[in-house]
Amino acid sequence: MSSPIPVAVLGATGSVGQRFISLLDNHPWFKVVALAASDRSVGQKYSDAARWILDTPMPEYARDMIVVPATTDSVQAKIVFSALHNDVAKDLEPQFAKAGVAVCSNASSYRRGDDVPLLLPEINAEHIHLVKQQRINRGWSGCITTNPNCTSTGLTIALKALDDAFGVKKVFAVSLQALSGAGYPGVPSLDIIDNVIPNIGGEEEKVEWEPRKMLGKLNNNKIDLADIKFSAHTNRVAVIDGHTVCVSVELGNSVEPEVAIQALRDYVAPLSARELPSSPRPVIEVRDEADRPQPRLDRLTGKGMTTVVGRLRRDPILDLKFVVLSHNTIRGAAGGSIYNAELLVNENLL
Ligand code: NAP
Repeated sequence: MSSPIPVAVLGATGSVGQRFISLLDNHPWFKVVALAASDRSVGQKYSDAARWILDTPMPEYARDMIVVPATTDSVQAKIVFSALHNDVAKDLEPQFAKAGVAVCSNASSYRRGDDVPLLLPEINAEHIHLVKQQRINRGWSGCITTNPNCTSTGLTIALKALDDAFGVKKVFAVSLQALSGAGYPGVPSLDIIDNVIPNIGGEEEKVEWEPRKMLGKLNNNKIDLADIKFSAHTNRVAVIDGHTVCVSVELGNSVEPEVAIQALRDYVAPLSARELPSSPRPVIEVRDEADRPQPRLDRLTGKGMTTVVGRLRRDPILDLKFVVLSHNTIRGAAGGSIYNAELLVNENLL
């Protein structure tokens, strides 16, 4: 790429925002030109405004940048990465799209829009072409693309490999979700240490619906939802990063576990999403050990972009059961949004 594309992060001081700052350091295509957050942070140096929670150092480029308001006047960029909460994103993201900016969002505000791509490029890269219809419908020169909630991410990638090979009919999923998924400062320590919280507001509905859109087919500028039944339980556990999901599936064609394992190992991304800077390498890693995947040991597989599957075996009620692990703030949030932006560039849709 001759000159880097100017990008900005909205919600730059939060849990996902910090991941963006870290993953965009030395990105081969993108240069961060603005960091935006709330009134609490505006006017301060980023290093003073953000309480850094990652275990890698704050990148040098960000330290002295002055945090600006999340407005189209203050943020001059071709792409904005949105790590805003839904209520704020709902108002601000369309303003950027209208002003000609490509918004790559982590918020759920627009995920269900008929003309809004809900993307995991390694499984549904072609859905990105919905932005053409979005531009016609809404009169925007920019666009909004979204990534799913962080629990649906790894789950749906594993399901895609099984759906392509054998057809998936029913899914029963139980999540064990990390604390960073609740943002910063998130869940009070006295609520979560020595505890499991068996409810995450709105999450079960997302896990039961978002995979159906992502596994659906692009048909005449809209998505036909996949005909798969989902039941989900979502739980918060005392893990810092990495969402684990225990999954049972009913398949169209019942298969031996070894055959399903091979289908997961053989899965490759569509061509347009295979060789981008953030493409997961590999898309899916299958562990053979009886006690893997584990968040602490496996969340950084493939720089946090790979979906890790293990314990694939027969299910006495449905057909197969297995465990999926995905890094929630990398593949499930900031890394996923950056991958979406790379796909937009690769498809000449900026
Ligand atoms: P967070 O840690 O609470 O951070 C929120 C960010 O938004 C902060 O930078 C905050 O700035 C900023 N902000 C708040 N009000 C604002 C306003 N009016 N204008 C501009 N900026 C404002 O939240 P998070 O966990 O990073 O989540 C961000 C989004 O990503 C949410 O929509 C969430 O659902 C989604 N998501 C999160 C994950 C995850 O694993 N955490 C995964 C997938 C999706 P100040 O610091 O200045 O207040």
